[in-house]
Parts: sequence; C-alpha cells; structure tokens
Amino acid sequence: MADRYLSFTGTAPGRLLTRRLGLPQPAALQRWTPEQPSLKGDRLLLTAGKSDLGLTDADARTALGLDLTTAPSEKPAAVVLDATGVRDVETLAEVHAALHPVVRSVAESGRVVVLGAPLDPADHHQAAVQQALEGFTRSLGKEIGHGRTVNLVRLTDAHAAESTLRFLLSPRSAYVSGQVIEVGSAPADVTAPHDPPHDPDRPLTGRTALVTGAARGIGEAVAETLARDGARVVVLDVPQAEQDARRVADRLGGTALALDITAPDAGTRIAAALPDGLDVLVHNAGITRDRRLVNMPAERWSSVLDVNLASVLRTTDALLESGTLRRGGRVVATASIAGLAGNAGQTNYGASKAGIVGLVRALAPRALAEHGVTVNAVAPGFVETKMTAAIPLFIREAGRRMNSLAQGGLPIDVAETTAWLADPGSSGVNGQVVRVCGQSLLGA
Ligand code: NAD
Repeated sequence: MADRYLSFTGTAPGRLLTRRLGLPQPAALQRWTPEQPSLKGDRLLLTAGKSDLGLTDADARTALGLDLTTAPSEKPAAVVLDATGVRDVETLAEVHAALHPVVRSVAESGRVVVLGAPLDPADHHQAAVQQALEGFTRSLGKEIGHGRTVNLVRLTDAHAAESTLRFLLSPRSAYVSGQVIEVGSAPADVTAPHDPPHDPDRPLTGRTALVTGAARGIGEAVAETLARDGARVVVLDVPQAEQDARRVADRLGGTALALDITAPDAGTRIAAALPDGLDVLVHNAGITRDRRLVNMPAERWSSVLDVNLASVLRTTDALLESGTLRRGGRVVATASIAGLAGNAGQTNYGASKAGIVGLVRALAPRALAEHGVTVNAVAPGFVETKMTAAIPLFIREAGRRMNSLAQGGLPIDVAETTAWLADPGSSGVNGQVVRVCGQSLLGA
C-alpha cells in the first residue's frame, strides 16, 4: 500500500534520477500533527480591485483570528489574495500584478487562497471576471508544484468564512487543491443551544457524531479526527465488522453500533440508539462491485445503489424528520471523483456517487431553512486504502500520479475535510461538493 515512488523521490539519488528522466516529483506533503498544527511562516494578504471585505484593516483581521500580514514576506507559508472587488478585465490585471512577484517564493506545502465574490447575474462584466478567477485558480494549481495548493473561496462575509479559511490555510487541507468553495452568510439562528463556548482546537466538544462504515479505512480516520476535535463518536458498521468497530470505538472513547445501513429501519434504529440526538452524520459506508455494463448482473447494480445512495437518502430523511439531527447539525456524505468524471467498469458506482451530488445540492437549502442543518459532500480522488491497494499495479500508479500533487491522498485528508464541514463555525458552507483529490485530472 505504501507509495514507494514517493519515498524514492524524497532521497537525493531519487530526486536526481527522476529529474533527469523527466518523471513526476511529488513533494512530501505537510499534514497536521499535534507538534506542528499550523504552517510555519507568514500569511501574506494581497488585494486586487477595491474590496469591501475590510481585511486590509488589521483590527478586523485580528478579530477574525486569521493572522494575516500585509508586510512583505520573503517566504510566506500562505498568500491570500482578496479579489472580491475585481469587476472588470482591467482590474483583473491586478490579480496578475499581485501574485506574479510572490508566487515563486511561497514555501513548500504552502497555500494560495484566492477570495472571489459571487457571480452577479445583473452584471456580466463582473460575472465574467469572477468566473475568470476559477480558471486562474485551477491553472495555477496545476503549475505551482512543491506540494503547494491553490483554492478559490467565493464569499460575501469574511466572518462566515472564518472556519473555511482556517482550514485552507492549515496543514489539514494538504490534499485539497483546485477547489472552488462557496460560503454564504450563515443564518443567525443556526446555532445549537447545547453548544459550549467555541474552542478552535476542539470545535466539536459536546457534540455527537455518527460515522457509517467506520470500522476501517476512511471512515475510521473520520471517526478518529472527529474525536480528536472533541466529538463523542458512534462507530457504525455491518455486524460482520462489529469486532473492528468496537476496537475503534474503544480507542476513541465512543460507542459501536453494529447495523447494516441498508436495513429498511436503519434510521429508526439509529434514532433509538441516540435518544439525546445527533449533531454530525457522516455517510461514509460505500462499496464497489465493478463490471462493465454489458456484463453487470442486476444484483451488482442494486447492491451498490442501495449502500451508496438509497440508504443515504433513507437515513437522512428519517433522522431529519424524527428531529434526531439537531439544529446546528451537519450531514456530510461521500461522493467520489468517479461520480463526477465517470469511470469505465463503474456505471453502478458512478451513478450512486453522482446521486450523492444531486442529493446534496437539492436538500442543502431546504435542510438549512427547515432544520438548521447543513448538507455537504466530500468527493475523494485516489486515496491509499485497502480498496485502492487491490487495483492492478499500472492502473494504480496512473491513479496515484494523475493529479497536481502527483501522489495519492491519505484517509486523514478526507477526514480533515469532513471535520471542517462538521465544524460549528461552518454554517455558511452548505450544498458544497468538495473534492479531496490533489486536483485530479479526472472530471476537473
Ligand atoms: P473500505 O471498503 O475500506 O471501508 C468501507 C466500510 O464501509 C467498511 O468498513 C464496510 O464494512 C462498511 N460498509 C459497507 N457496507 C456497509 C453497510 N451496508 N452498512 C454499514 N457499513 C457498511 O472503503 P474506503 O476506501 O474507506 O471508502 C470509504 C468511502 O469513500 C466509500 O463511500 C467510498 O466509496 C469512498 N471513496 C473511496 C475512495 C478511495 O480511493 N478509497 C475514493 C473515492 C471515494
């Protein structure tokens, strides 16, 4: 399962040889550790156009807790470019003028975050140049290299985007690049009455999270990360995996729930197991049953659609309707880049994961308005798990390298993204499908 090529290119002879042969040179990504929880170095704020966000005011930035500086920096760990005020092609040139001189100096595993404004349907010049920022961001992500990431956040209110910027400017977002994330203004009344005071190091303190398929792989990492952030976790998995689920739950001080999520009464049984309610519901359980459509029996189709999509629809409905998912709650579902780009041999899986995208987009505004619950999805690319270790060598190597970071992601990358979406501060993030794929070339 280990990426030996990545280890090899981290050695001096490996670097020399791969450079000579023109092969990909993935950088070892800096991920969150308790010893190094943040990126080392300045976070530089630049502006293009006339912005209304007020970030040039040092007091406003301090109030946001973002620690951004406008003083020149030799090797910034991150650069935030406020381009929300760009309204025409002339001011778009300021994006080039601001980033051109500094982009080379951004530290390895550093971050570039472009702030854009929502597209104004009444002003096609503004809409054109704000959309231009998307092409700019994705292109810079593909060329910047050295483990650095580039993302675009469309926002109107810097306060609503605080948790998002905190995530993107940290080692937690190591494998998230080339993404466009929209952050709306969080409705003022969407707070959970039971919330203790917000602690940015343990934002989920006092919250209960249930993760499906959490006995191993990505789900296990999600449960671990939510527990690290203070949540009481419920580790759900099929009865056959009960022992592993218990092991994970015991380690995290949580509880295990042996339940096949496709059971028609799964929602009621979860509600019964959580009489005090639920704050974070992570739909992670998923299966593949690959075959080309011509060779695919109906059973392979229905089992994948049942686990990956129908059970997600059923349990979400049941837990919203029963009020088990409390106000201020979060639903995070798991899509896949196969659902966005399509994949040969995966008509069933691709359909199920695209279905997740449809569910998220349609339910998000309603769930927030009616229940005070946000609904988002993560869409992993190639992640190093047992599932991907089983892929034949050459296809596996192609999957691993065909992204801007030239390596696979780790389960922790999906987990960190889920934890950001689950954060009580992320109420303004709703209806988003965030790819955790190192900016995969597939379905960009
Ligand atoms: P995995 O196979 O390692 O783990 C999946 C877990 O879900 C297992 O513990 C399994 O027992 C559980 N599960 C399966 N059916 C269930 C059911 N009916 N009820 C309850 N639990 C059930 O998979 P993974 O690689 O960790 O993937 C997790 C999620 O991420 C899946 O939804 C998968 O489709 C998605 N994903 C993974 C990748 C990747 O590269 N690994 C890429 C894109 C998307």
